[in-house]
Amino acid sequence: MKKLAIATLTAALLLGAGAANAVEEKFITIGTGGQTGVYYVVGQSVCQLVNRGQSDHGIRCTAPATGGSVANLNAIRAGDQDLGIVQSDQQYKAMKGEESFADAGPNEALRAVFSAHPESFTVMARPDAGIKTFDDLKGKRVNIGNPGSGQRATMDVLMREKGWDTSVFRLASELRAAEQAQALCDNKIDAMLYVVGHPNGSIQEAASSCGAVLVPVTGPEVDKLVTEFPYYATSTIPGGMYPGNAEDVPTFGVAATLVSSTSLTEDVVYQVVKAVFDNFDRFKRLHPAFENLDPERMIEAGLSAPLHDGAVKYYQEKGWM
Ligand code: GLU
Repeated sequence: MKKLAIATLTAALLLGAGAANAVEEKFITIGTGGQTGVYYVVGQSVCQLVNRGQSDHGIRCTAPATGGSVANLNAIRAGDQDLGIVQSDQQYKAMKGEESFADAGPNEALRAVFSAHPESFTVMARPDAGIKTFDDLKGKRVNIGNPGSGQRATMDVLMREKGWDTSVFRLASELRAAEQAQALCDNKIDAMLYVVGHPNGSIQEAASSCGAVLVPVTGPEVDKLVTEFPYYATSTIPGGMYPGNAEDVPTFGVAATLVSSTSLTEDVVYQVVKAVFDNFDRFKRLHPAFENLDPERMIEAGLSAPLHDGAVKYYQEKGWM
């Protein structure tokens, strides 16, 4: 991935225009997740709004599919991505240098931009697998997710609370988010995990292609996580959102958040935030999971890293802080 500095061109030079009209062209990338998740839509939506103003600010935004939260946080730290969408629990852990980020240590350059939709820890099982509760996953073929994904990182946390390791499963596969619905319906696995906003394409695919069912995730270990850590909360997947899943399903969850680092300039982050909030009604219409977004909550909920200066500038102009 090109770094910002290398990718900086002067459009005015290309056009032979005078220096007075120079709009510097800058390329930025937002890391997302798999194509059937919601991060991908968040990234595409933010970029679409940013790119509409390209002739004014010169920023060209792209949002490729990635391995998910942990992969995005690592890529931002390495300078391979400018921004990324990440789970609030993983934002915290990257900032502190815990768990997946223990080797790298605390990331003091990490900056929060805003939080987006809520995500639920979602377990979905084949209808014939006899899985009615989270504990029924024992002895089954379970896709625990690719390393780099948020669901894998949060699953590791929950398994540790339960005193489980992967040997409790008959099979622990590491498929990417976009592959798991098909693997479930092809009877290669009994259950899949996804920390994701609802509705989303992957859960829809599993429910409609092979009658897959949502499984509640509750119990003392979940209660402990929710009580102990500010970035976890109880959550409900509404009944009737997916075919064959009429009941509300209780679980826990996180917030999806947009993060960056101090190496992205104040001006670029300001323009990204401005593109989203100046066109907020349009943004909200881009995905049903954005329906209940509220700007004043978005600059607070689930953010543990300090806000980026460019974001603060816009939020202060708006009188939101
Ligand atoms: N929460 C997932 C992750 O961090 C991604 C969800 C999505 O793509 O919407 O990997």
